Amino acid sequence: MIAFPKPRTPLVLATHNAGKLRELTPWVLSQGLEPHTLDEFGIPSPEETGSTLEANALIKAEQARKQCALAVLADDSGLEVDALEGGPGVMTADYAGPAAGAEDNIRKLLSALDGLPPNRRLARFRCVLVLWPAERESPFIAEGVCSGRILAAPRGQRGFGYDPVFEILELGRSMAEIEYDLKEKYSHRGLALAALHNLLATADWPPGDGAGC
Ligand code: IMP
Repeated sequence: MIAFPKPRTPLVLATHNAGKLRELTPWVLSQGLEPHTLDEFGIPSPEETGSTLEANALIKAEQARKQCALAVLADDSGLEVDALEGGPGVMTADYAGPAAGAEDNIRKLLSALDGLPPNRRLARFRCVLVLWPAERESPFIAEGVCSGRILAAPRGQRGFGYDPVFEILELGRSMAEIEYDLKEKYSHRGLALAALHNLLATADWPPGDGAGC
């Protein structure tokens, strides 16, 4: 008898951020899921009107879910800087304004911390992941936190967003200086994916028979 490969459950990555897509896709594949993008379905980014990362991750997941009726994985991340009383937090993406790019955000951050010594530059990156299977009424939610320090000047060429100015305390290197496998191990997103993995280990999802969506 011929054994046909089981169909994989499709999952839509609810982000337009190329850096996040790059970091989330290997995990999705490792779960035996079939990754898809918002672009494939013509789904725009929703307005992030929530006051917490979790609320915004849920907004992203719900919008994608409504429009494609598949499993979705959404990520909302934020940088919390002690010297900025936990800011920019939920405003991390728009720190330098709604049309700002990563370089503008970094410039504003470095100027806000200008002159502060290393011990007053402590920060953390937080990531909330919402994985919402199509057939379930409630999502899986996981969080990861990476402690670090905002450097006085960018270092490294890899990664995206604030990576060049975020030094991981445990490594003493910026997120833009490390290889992908190290970022996966130490970063907020990598830790959130590990937490999600643990949650799924005791759940009945993804379905073993490839059914689902
Ligand atoms: P949001 O999660 O789409 O709201 O984006 C939060 C902001 O943090 C954006 O400016 C991202 O580029 C940035 N960001 C999210 N994750 C990372 C990361 O792993 N490294 C550097 N910047 C990040």
